Amino acid sequence: MPFATRVHPGKKIRLSDIDPKANGGLEKADGEAQLEKLSLELGELQELLYAAGTHSLLVVFQGMDTAGKDGSIRAVFNHTSPLGQRISPFKVPTPLERDHDFLWRVHSQTPEKGMISIFNRSHYEDVLVVRVHELAPKAVWSKRFEHINNFERLLADSDTIIVKFYLHISPEEQEQRLLDREREVEKAWKLSAADWVERRSWSKYMTAYEEAIQRCTTSYAPWIVVPSDRKWFRNLAVAESLVETLRPYRKGWVDALTERGQAELTAIRAARGERGRRN
Ligand code: ADP
Repeated sequence: MPFATRVHPGKKIRLSDIDPKANGGLEKADGEAQLEKLSLELGELQELLYAAGTHSLLVVFQGMDTAGKDGSIRAVFNHTSPLGQRISPFKVPTPLERDHDFLWRVHSQTPEKGMISIFNRSHYEDVLVVRVHELAPKAVWSKRFEHINNFERLLADSDTIIVKFYLHISPEEQEQRLLDREREVEKAWKLSAADWVERRSWSKYMTAYEEAIQRCTTSYAPWIVVPSDRKWFRNLAVAESLVETLRPYRKGWVDALTERGQAELTAIRAARGERGRRN
């Protein structure tokens, strides 16, 4: 059983049916040991992705405040090379961004071949915060699900592997995390009165998330719901989903690299004037 829930197209999803406290029946120490192995494997897979240069990877992180978008990026990508990845945070749009269509700022951050792009928030904010706070009329945001699916299809058709994580925490756990921040001096920089205001819209956010996840989970860009009340389990579930997504590509990448190596070897020998000898 995978640790996270992959949402299949056409299936109804109720977030309240998924337990944010799930731990996969594991103890923390066991989970952390498994995470270490998986993040090492992710590092190897990234090296192959980078070297083969035939695909790119887009990883989207969404979740309520304190769900752990930053934390899971730090924990899961700790054995990947910064050379092969870029992290793009999406904040309140600038005036210039707002004067374009909502995908304009997103498209420029998508990964080129060989690269990983990690989105900390994403184009989904345009059907989440925008909907919850009525920043655009329904006639505008409701058309965006189709635009998003078409956009992600375009990326997938250009060999972008896409995985989208919803980090699922309970309102009780969020409250605890916000209170912890007030107590810990080293976390004071994270304090924001706005987080307490946002909490009041919890159920509106859940409705918006459910619809976004349901309408935009596709075979080429699936949504994965990650139980996130336990940080160690959240990290493990994200790492497992990513590794399982990438594993099927491993052989193709290794074969392409071996073939490229052989061709280069032949070219080197020819350049040195060696003829007729094999290997
Ligand atoms: P984070 O919470 O991601 O660490 P911030 O505290 O700067 O970083 O929050 C970014 C804010 O930008 C969030 O409140 C988010 O809802 C908002 N935001 C992101 N994209 C949009 C958008 N398209 N329209 C309006 N607000 C957005």
